[in-house]
Amino acid sequence: MAAPPPPCPFPKLHPSQLVRDDGFFMSLAYNQAIDAWRAGEVPIGAVIAVDGEIVAAAHNVVESNRDPTAHAEMLALTQAAAARGDWRLDGATVFVTKEPCPMCSGALLMSRVRRVCYAVPDPKMGCLGGATDLNQLPRMNHRLELTAGGVLEPECRTLLQAFFRGRREGAEAGPEGSPCPAAPGT
Ligand SMILES: [Zn+2]
Repeated sequence: MAAPPPPCPFPKLHPSQLVRDDGFFMSLAYNQAIDAWRAGEVPIGAVIAVDGEIVAAAHNVVESNRDPTAHAEMLALTQAAAARGDWRLDGATVFVTKEPCPMCSGALLMSRVRRVCYAVPDPKMGCLGGATDLNQLPRMNHRLELTAGGVLEPECRTLLQAFFRGRREGAEAGPEGSPCPAAPGT
């Protein structure tokens, strides 16, 4: 049984509003991940941008919602579709701090977003190049443009590693604290 995570020791980033590059949007996804940690969730965040404007921002709420589908990307896709009034999100770019899992990779393909930029590759569960690549299914009629790793990668990786290390050490220190389920495979 995993212990509750320790308090988040990392500050949020304050990117310049003037340069709306991948680093800018990933910084906002990172800040969502910080919010996730502060809420006791695995620190993964996502934002969706269209024409340089943010149309969605979300983080994991798997624990608090008790919902295995409540990953950052899923929530952000739902927000973006609601904002647009259309499930087709062509032209949108999704920035997410970790490579999407099988569920989220599938949803990203189904929503027809133009591009996905993720910070930390995930060789265990990542389905956009890490463990496997759903984007390469031979008969699919939509392909994502991919930026796989490299944008704020060290920061996002450090955040995830520190979270899991802290939770492990908390678990070893003793059973105090409220019980919470094991880490979801985000
Ligand atoms: Zn996911």
